[in-house]
Amino acid sequence: MNNFGIDLWSNNNFIIENGLLKLNYKSKPSLLSLVKELRIQNYKGPLLFRFPHLIEKQITRLYNTYNAAIKENDYHGNFNAVFPLKVNQFPSFVHPLIEAGEKFNYGLEAGSKAELIIAMTYNKKAPITVNGFKDKEMIHLGFIAKQMGHNITLIIEGLNELETIVEVEKETKLPCPNIGLRVRLFNSGSGAWAKSGGIDSKFGLSSTEILEAYEVLEKNNLYDCLTMIHFHIGSSMNTIKPLKNALKESGHIYAELKNLGAKNLSSINIGGGLGVEYSQYKRTINYSLQEFASDVVFTLKNIAKQKNVEEPNIFTESGRFISASSAVLIAPVLELFSAEYEAGHLRLKDLNPPLIEELNELFQDMKKKNALEYMHDSIDHLESLLKLFDLGYIDLEDRSNAEILTNLIIKKAISFLEIDDYDELKRIDNKIQEKYLLNFSIFQSLPDFWGINQEFPIMPITHLDKNPTRSAAIWDITCDSDGEMEFNPKKPLYLHDVNLDEEEYFIGFFQVGAYQDVLGMKHNLFSHPTEVNVTFEGEDVKLEQIVESQKIIDILDDIDYDINEIKSILNSKVNKDIYLILEKYLNDNSYLKTTWS
Ligand SMILES: *Cc1c(COP(=O)(O)O)cnc(C)c1O
Repeated sequence: MNNFGIDLWSNNNFIIENGLLKLNYKSKPSLLSLVKELRIQNYKGPLLFRFPHLIEKQITRLYNTYNAAIKENDYHGNFNAVFPLKVNQFPSFVHPLIEAGEKFNYGLEAGSKAELIIAMTYNKKAPITVNGFKDKEMIHLGFIAKQMGHNITLIIEGLNELETIVEVEKETKLPCPNIGLRVRLFNSGSGAWAKSGGIDSKFGLSSTEILEAYEVLEKNNLYDCLTMIHFHIGSSMNTIKPLKNALKESGHIYAELKNLGAKNLSSINIGGGLGVEYSQYKRTINYSLQEFASDVVFTLKNIAKQKNVEEPNIFTESGRFISASSAVLIAPVLELFSAEYEAGHLRLKDLNPPLIEELNELFQDMKKKNALEYMHDSIDHLESLLKLFDLGYIDLEDRSNAEILTNLIIKKAISFLEIDDYDELKRIDNKIQEKYLLNFSIFQSLPDFWGINQEFPIMPITHLDKNPTRSAAIWDITCDSDGEMEFNPKKPLYLHDVNLDEEEYFIGFFQVGAYQDVLGMKHNLFSHPTEVNVTFEGEDVKLEQIVESQKIIDILDDIDYDINEIKSILNSKVNKDIYLILEKYLNDNSYLKTTWS
């Protein structure tokens, strides 16, 4: 049975039971039951489920694995981690994250002033690190956070930032936050974002600048504030090797600075980049968290020994690893493209063109043993008939009959072949694919699919006791031809042949908890899906913090229309009863409404 690669990507977070996809936690609710519960409350359209227990699971895995590696290697530094807010800043994610991380002292990383405000407001005692380009105001915010009692480290990206720190310290006389140096490494990363590291990277100090930075700190009597060396070689590393090289390089920089006299320098921050398995076809992340953590600890231990300095504390800033698995998007299927090709729609004439008569015979006479041959013939016939139409030799009714008959033949052949000749079927996937129209926007909910061709695991949440037989392409409801996930024979997606008049069919998109929320865009003015946090009280499921998809009027307000003007113009042009209906529509979201969706 096709299990949609769940063993590869789901990390046991989900299981298939009795044909349903279920959460592998507590009372193991099916995803369908969660969808149904929201529908009862009249939330329709696409739904984004967040699972705080999966955030907690990842934080716990991260700490436990590193702490085990530290113990095993008799390492003397400790382990710390912060969550990089740029990966997901939404309150319904951040609040559970902070709660789950409290017992580990799990902190936050900020890369902009707005993110720093979130960290200053909601972080409790855990560390805060600040990356990214900073102006005087942002550095001042860092000083204020320090004064509020936060354990905050400003990681400088360039010498000018250090000079601004000196300036702010002199002007405000506030105690100086910890200072970290982001180093520009010769060894760059792997994966799609390798340009975050490397000698020509956008970020970090060259070795000359590191020496100069140390002199500036010394001259201003701030070198006690230098506590951290930082690097980040890029997101989604698929092998460990580049990390090892970066560790060696930064480890030696740490040791050199220690030996120069940086007595409070105590930490190496290795950034993020821990990979997440997005593929449902073959493994793409070629290491385990255990190997990763062991390599970090082992490499740093060796350098400290070689240079005779104390073993540094380890900081990580992995974001994708913590958040990706915690959110799942579920979109209802609105339509199957071939649904319009049903036998009832045939308009056969008393006298049909010969090729149509032949198609009809192929359909009537098809047996298991000739199914494949007949299907090929029918596709050829359809192509010929479409040419005849273009030349004016057959009429629109004939063309419609040809399309319907060919689709009926394909469907019948698939039902014959799915058992014995599944492989043969797969060879002609491309020609017989089905288009599934889903009530969602790829631009809003899977922006990385659109922008950087990021894969996401995709699977239906029901029908999992039946083999899916249709090679599937997915269409969203935007009016943009990029809002499509084409069928890819190298990574084939098969879905079920369903009759939407009789049953509902929902498709889940997984690993969408990292980066997708905030990158999502309102193309065609579709806003975010309705969002909900799924928590448990004992065994009972609770649906909390429901954030409904934005109303049309609010979307228009967001892009700076004068909504009073919109209302008054509409009101002036229709009668009162119609205006009341318009008002209702303005207060709905943009997603489509049908019986099922
Ligand atoms: C983006 C970023 C991260 C997070 O990277 P992930 O691949 O999501 O783990 C960590 N640190 C810095 C400095 C970043 O810019």
